[in-house]
Amino acid sequence: MKCHDGMYIGGEWRPAASSDTIAVINPADEQVIGHVPAGTAEDIDAAVRAARAAFPAWAATPPAERAALIGAVRDALAARAGDIAATVTAELGAPPPLAAGVHTGLPIAIAGSYAELAATHPFEEKVGNSVVHAEPVGVVGAITPWNYPLHQIVAKVAPALAAGCTVVLKPAEDTPLTAQLFAEAVHAAGVPAGVFNLVTGLGPVAGQALAEHEDVDLVSFTGSTAVGRRIGAIAGGAVKRVALELGGKSANVILPGADLGKAVAVGIANVMSNSGQTCSAWTRMLVHTDQYDEAVRLAAEAVAKYVPGERVGPLVNARQQQRVRGYIEKGVEEGARLVAGGPEAPLETGYYVSPTVFADVTPQMTIAQEEIFGPVVSILRYEDEEDALAIANGTVYGLSGAVWGEPEAAVAFARRMDTGQVDINGGRFNPLAPFGGYKQSGVGRELGAHGLAEYLQTKSLQF
Ligand code: NAD
Repeated sequence: MKCHDGMYIGGEWRPAASSDTIAVINPADEQVIGHVPAGTAEDIDAAVRAARAAFPAWAATPPAERAALIGAVRDALAARAGDIAATVTAELGAPPPLAAGVHTGLPIAIAGSYAELAATHPFEEKVGNSVVHAEPVGVVGAITPWNYPLHQIVAKVAPALAAGCTVVLKPAEDTPLTAQLFAEAVHAAGVPAGVFNLVTGLGPVAGQALAEHEDVDLVSFTGSTAVGRRIGAIAGGAVKRVALELGGKSANVILPGADLGKAVAVGIANVMSNSGQTCSAWTRMLVHTDQYDEAVRLAAEAVAKYVPGERVGPLVNARQQQRVRGYIEKGVEEGARLVAGGPEAPLETGYYVSPTVFADVTPQMTIAQEEIFGPVVSILRYEDEEDALAIANGTVYGLSGAVWGEPEAAVAFARRMDTGQVDINGGRFNPLAPFGGYKQSGVGRELGAHGLAEYLQTKSLQF
């Protein structure tokens, strides 16, 4: 795999401050595929200075020109689609069709959506005797996780650039090669030097230095709730803006009027995709007691199609594999019934976990409360709608969810869920719909116009 041995700062690949490196490992075969520099506070400082220096001119660039450059980034990504997909497969382990679709095609489409939004967004509004201007917040520190390496980057950098902000990106240490390809695309698109900067490195070193840097105006973080809480505290202490996209434990609620076969099959597919490493995955399936046994049977049948090493890739690293296997053991210990999968690794090489389905899961069990981030579905039983609602809302998270049933009943139920997104009867993912969490799933929204608003601040002029 192609690796840069420097940081992309001020429009060029510069040597890193330290000679330390991070090994990038293919989780499907456990082989080292490359090394990237381990950034330090010094690299972060150089990148923030470059972003600050570039900010006035980029903020003053007419939105139509910014839009054209974001469109050029989109085209440069599209030109590299094959390399991006191969890189996501190599460093994340995503099976090739998934790497080409969700991991590559989706972020390219999202980059395109921000080229359009930058060109059409009303950055100025008349309110009575005032004109309200939407101005860029400033220098953005973006910290991203490994689960959707390119999507997480584009979902922050594209709206930030559309708003007129400049960016320093610290991508996840497991998937830095996709981030380097993104930097190449930005460079090829002709985005002015310093508008986008990349520093690879470890979270507690480079990530923390970015969150703490006094010249960063907004920290946009996607990752675990534990780290998000720390970043929120740092940002709060410095009175700077913060956006947090954190964990989830979403409910897939199957009401009695639903197409049970479809609801179960789509629910299983939703969790198995990306090996369960999706923050919005519907990991808790809620089924009425009358349909429970049938749903369990259908789930066991559906999950059999997800063969590790074929349709299901590995987890990203050995630590995640161990963590997820630990949760499966915990489920067994606490009395849940395994109907598929289990804690044993299905393949000798690679960080694979068996696609696992648990029945007889009760709401207070660890596997029903904590985010597992692996291919594990828990099926819970409810007695009536109020019971289903209490279970659905009964975690600290609120990122996503699904409801299946008669359309009116499903919508009424969804409106009572404490969560940021709900798919009704298998509604399709909409890249323009705001995405983000209620409760401890986060602060702020990404995608579409709501995602753009995160990077803007308002100024009112009175006449
Ligand atoms: P993580 O929190 O460990 O890491 C995320 C990023 O933060 C990485 O770039 C990492 O290097 C960095 N980081 C780690 N420690 C840091 C620190 N002390 N200071 C600053 N930065 C630091 O999360 P992960 O394991 O990479 O990702 C999995 C988690 O992300 C899951 O909990 C998942 O739900 C969540 N996630 C949420 C969303 C969402 O949109 N809500 C999307 C994807 C993933």
